Amino acid sequence: MPPIPKTMTGVVIDSPGGVEVLKYKTDLPVPEPKEGEVLVKNEFIGINFIDTYFRTGLYKAPYPLVTGKEAAGTVLTAHSSVSSSFPVGSRVAYLADHAYASLTAVPAAKLIRLPDGISNLQAASALLQGLTALTFIREAAEITEGDGRWCLVHAAAGGVGTWLVQMLSALGCKVIGTAGSVEKCELAKKNGAGWTINSREEDVVAKVKEITEGKGVDVIFDGVGKATFDSDLEMIARKGTLIMVGNASGAVPPFDILRLGAKNVKLLRPMLSGYLATREETEKYSKELFDMLQSGKIEVKIHEIYELKDVARAHSDLEGRKTTGKLILKL
Ligand code: NDP
Repeated sequence: MPPIPKTMTGVVIDSPGGVEVLKYKTDLPVPEPKEGEVLVKNEFIGINFIDTYFRTGLYKAPYPLVTGKEAAGTVLTAHSSVSSSFPVGSRVAYLADHAYASLTAVPAAKLIRLPDGISNLQAASALLQGLTALTFIREAAEITEGDGRWCLVHAAAGGVGTWLVQMLSALGCKVIGTAGSVEKCELAKKNGAGWTINSREEDVVAKVKEITEGKGVDVIFDGVGKATFDSDLEMIARKGTLIMVGNASGAVPPFDILRLGAKNVKLLRPMLSGYLATREETEKYSKELFDMLQSGKIEVKIHEIYELKDVARAHSDLEGRKTTGKLILKL
């Protein structure tokens, strides 16, 4: 077994706030794996918009906090209670807390063994956002192969958006992507969107009505939230499905539920964790995701690989709408 270091590098938040609260440290105590846990040496850490919610305090957590929700690396050691299915040295990825560090104690139930054809970088780039797209398509939108429905993806060149566009177009949906610049629209088109709308310059509702010849879109995937919710209800088709994926522009305020009756809209606000609640679900969907990657049907698109010490710049870029695809931290 390799020696376990006494200290590690990581990023600590002492209290919620702006990017300045992300403190890079090189002398943090190494977590000791408790019952059912494995100590993982992280190689690549995925950055997700949810990391900014925990940093700002929109989502609550006890402080001081080492945030971060996904990473890939190798097993360094395990608590004696953990079975031998994750031997020392095996390559793993996980969706679990405290990933912004060189070492993380992860519940073995959350570990995913990486197949030979999937690199640590691919896994850290794909897991959270790819599984969000896949499960929301399958479980929330109930879309299967050959579905010809109109789907609208907001922030279509972003992390989750890039996966949604690739998967929905591969499934035969008619995909409209919104994005905040001409360059982002071009990227969304390259990834499979049949139509794009520049959300900073064009009237999105009018454009959707024009593209769909007045019908509206059948399914909307909305990770923007507060800024787009009202217009979603205007451009959704009768009996459409509105999936509120997240809150990049802020949380949607309380609203009058009777508004859904105008078009018999189905409204969902799912969480990925609710679709991966069991080991079977986690294994089933991660296998499907890895198979798609290995077949070349879907690709990882990386915006930038940042050094862990540059995490504040990465958060600024993400919140400043300067990024496309995935942001990664490396150790
Ligand atoms: P993205 O890479 O998509 O980044 C967010 C994008 O949102 C920006 O690039 C920008 O794209 C757009 N945006 C529009 N308005 C704003 C604004 N005011 N501030 C910041 N961004 C804005 O991030 P992720 O892929 O990590 O996440 C996308 C969404 O999905 C988030 O809301 C996240 O919380 C959610 N999510 C939810 C999950 C769940 O379980 N429910 C799981 C994973 C993600 P543009 O400039 O093109 O408009």
